[in-house]
Amino acid sequence: MVNARKSKKQNPKSKIRKGDVVRILSGKDRGKSGSVMAVLPERGRVVVDSINMMMKHVRPKKSGEKGQRVSIAAPMHISNVQLICPACKKSSRLGIKREDGKRQRICKKCNTVID
Ligand SMILES: [Zn+2]
Repeated sequence: MVNARKSKKQNPKSKIRKGDVVRILSGKDRGKSGSVMAVLPERGRVVVDSINMMMKHVRPKKSGEKGQRVSIAAPMHISNVQLICPACKKSSRLGIKREDGKRQRICKKCNTVID
């Protein structure tokens, strides 16, 4: 079981990409939306601008420096976000259409090709 899981590639191709506007489906920021700043495919996570903010405590590195708290956007699981379709403005699931060997994302609600 463990081995089968390891050999299987996780999230080989995510449907969410950097720059997409997504809606947050769970956690303290549920219902909010933001743009994707980074996708971490190997961890199956995305970083969304101003969403899932965490205080990070930074220790002083040299004497005389002060420790500080910085707020950073923490990565969240890709299944907790959903793309907002630019055509119908609804968060929707995505389908994949293959045309001329290209993968295209389509909105399952209005069938618009997204890229
Ligand atoms: Zn749509």
